[in-house]
Order: sequence, then structure tokens, then C-alpha cells
Amino acid sequence: MQYRIYGKNLGFKVSALGMGCMRLPQIVDEVNGRAEVDKDKAFELIRYAVDHGVNYFDTAYGYHAKASEAVLGEALETFQCRDKVKIVTKQPFGVMSDLSSGGGKTIKDNARRNLENTLAKLRTSYLDVYLIHAIGKSSWGDTKQEKIIEAYEQFRAEGLIRGIGFSYHGDFDCFKDVLSYYSWDMCQIQQNFIDVERETTVQGIRLAGEKGVALVIMEPLRGGLLATPPAPIKALYEEYERETGAPQRSAVEWAFRHLLNYPEVSVILSGTTTLAQLAEDIEIFSKPESVPGCLTDGESELLSRVKTKYESLKAIPCTGCQYCMPCAQGVEIPGVFARYNDGMMFGNFDQPRRSYMFTTRAGRDASKCVACGACEKKCPQGINIIDKLKTAHEKLKGWIE
Ligand code: SF4
Ligand code: SF4
Repeated sequence: MQYRIYGKNLGFKVSALGMGCMRLPQIVDEVNGRAEVDKDKAFELIRYAVDHGVNYFDTAYGYHAKASEAVLGEALETFQCRDKVKIVTKQPFGVMSDLSSGGGKTIKDNARRNLENTLAKLRTSYLDVYLIHAIGKSSWGDTKQEKIIEAYEQFRAEGLIRGIGFSYHGDFDCFKDVLSYYSWDMCQIQQNFIDVERETTVQGIRLAGEKGVALVIMEPLRGGLLATPPAPIKALYEEYERETGAPQRSAVEWAFRHLLNYPEVSVILSGTTTLAQLAEDIEIFSKPESVPGCLTDGESELLSRVKTKYESLKAIPCTGCQYCMPCAQGVEIPGVFARYNDGMMFGNFDQPRRSYMFTTRAGRDASKCVACGACEKKCPQGINIIDKLKTAHEKLKGWIE
């Protein structure tokens, strides 16, 4: 296993592979369609990870309908390895600020109550790093105004947490603002070779490195979608290997290799569901060549070609420009199209449908469209938004968990 330095503040040395606990194996109830964590299989995965050198575990208050922290905590206690690993978890501003939940009179009281519950579930007296979950443009203002960082500093002063960080979804400008606001110990961002021009972009990776903030990557395989490429993508990998004599690599290895190449990256999280996936990840992260600088110019060009080919498989030419927004009915138009395009690009709708379930729960799915037509007048791509929303909804609806 490769190990890397975890930023400049905490002095941690961590496995470059982190186990993400949001896609643990599940058992689905055939009657009501509800899924719950398959504890035996999850324990097996956690045990295997620890035994093979993984010392970084990432979970969150809300993962697996709030069950992930408890499963991880019980497993680490059972295997008596709490002190050998780093536990990182998170709570979102929306949960802290829900004062109807009975956690106290203020947002800071709520945050404390949630942390205490989390520590109990994880069966530990401290967290290695505690994150504010999923900061983005809409929640960053509230996070600052309610002085959430002050609350976290108090937790640290009491020895309940060791490091303070945040996970982030949004663009580079807001990320820069968040990163510059405080001396964070770590930040967690979405990156993979498909997203190099999206989210924080590569600029985000470079900035975190310049500031010495530990950088953790989530969604390295885009929710697993990069692991099973459609035929035109497979053909590109095979052609490259044939023409250059490069060793045969799986699509998973190509995607990890892109991220392992960055010296700024401390940990790459992989949310494995099966032992076979975990074993493959561990094998890749244990290769002597899986170090910063591993990607050759030729390999970099290959991944650019693969990205372009993936993008050519999009069904709706939405650029995500947001000019059509806001929709008076709350429909998350570019988000719906992004999920539909992901399904078409990757030839797999499982992850887009799961993600659409959350959009639906938030009341922002395409079924809310009343065909007023306001968005179509503003779309520079001339997309027939009303019809395309219907097509996307039919394909994305119906995921339950
Ligand atoms: S047509 Fe539908 S999606 Fe577009 S603005 Fe009107 S309600 Fe919203
Ligand atoms: S205006 Fe058109 S291209 Fe831009 S986000 Fe909306 S649908 Fe996509």
C-alpha cells in the first residue's frame, strides 16, 4: 500500500486508498424494496481493508440512511483496530440547522448533539477529522454566518475531534473563497479525469496543494461509472495498449492512475461494494509505480481522448450554463440533464437513478414541470427542454432505498 502525507497541520501519514463507506453492500427487502446494509459483508470488507494496509475510513452522518457510521464503528471495535486507523465523518449544515430535531435551542447545540451521536455510533471518543458536509455556494454563506467553524474549534479544544475540514461540491471560485477563509486541515473534492473542467477543476487541486491542506478525492470513478466503460471507450484503451506496448490496465486503474499522478492528493476514496473491487483497488494502490508523476504524456493524451469520446455519447447538448434557471416550479433542469447524460455516456443508469431519487425527494425533479416554456426561451443551445425533461424523467424515475 502506498502512503502519503496528509497536509501540513496534522502530521498524519495515510494510505493513498481510503475506504468510502457510502456504498457498503446491502440487502434489499423484496417486499418493500427497501435496502439496508449487509453487516456481515460490510464487516468482511472493512476487515480486508485494514488487513491490507488501508488506514483511512470516510463516512458521514447521513450515509446509508444514517446506518454507515454505526456499522463502521461496530466493525472497528470488533476488530480492535480503532487506534490503527483514521476515522473521518461529516455533518451537513442543513442537519445542524434543523432546530425542530430537538437537539437544542441553537444550531451550535444541534451540531454538538449530532457529534455526540456520531461518536457513540462510531464507538470512539474522538474523530480524526470532522467535516462540514457538502459545502457549496448555497450553504457557504450560512456556514460562515452561523460561525460553524467556531463550534468545531470548540469540539477540537475538548479533544472530541483532531482536525477540521469540509467536503465540497461547486465551482472553483466558491472553493477558493472557502479554502482562503480558514486554516483548514483538509478538504474533500470530487475529481476524476472526466471532471477536470468541472467542479473545482484542476485549479482546486493545485490551490489545496499550495496551501498545504490535505486533499482527499471523492468520486474517482464517478460513482463507479468509469469502471465499466462502453465498447467505444474500451476500444480506445485497447488500441493504445496495442500501439504502444503499454501493459494492459483495467478502466479502474486508468482512472486511479490519473489521480495518483497528482502530488497534491493525499487520499483517493473508493466506495467499494464487493471484495473483488476492494482487492483490485488495493492491488493498484500497492504497485510501486502508483506514485505522483506516474502518468506519461502519452497516457495523459489517451485520457483526454477517452474524455472526449465519453462526451460525444451525451444525448442532450446541455452545457450546464444555468441560463434556464431558476425554474419557477423548482425543477433542477441542468441537474436532470446531467444525470440523464451520465446514464447515456456510461451505458449505466444505476447511479444517475439513485442520484435522481435525491432530486425527487427535494421536490426538484422533472415531474414538477408545468410546461410554461420560460426556460426554453433562455437556452442558448436551443434545447427542447420540456420534451427532454419528460424523456429523462421516464428513464431516471423509480429508484428506491
Ligand atoms: S417549462 Fe418546465 S422546467 Fe421550464 S421553466 Fe417552465 S416549469 Fe420550469
Ligand atoms: S440553458 Fe440550456 S444548456 Fe444551459 S443549463 Fe439550461 S438546458 Fe442546459
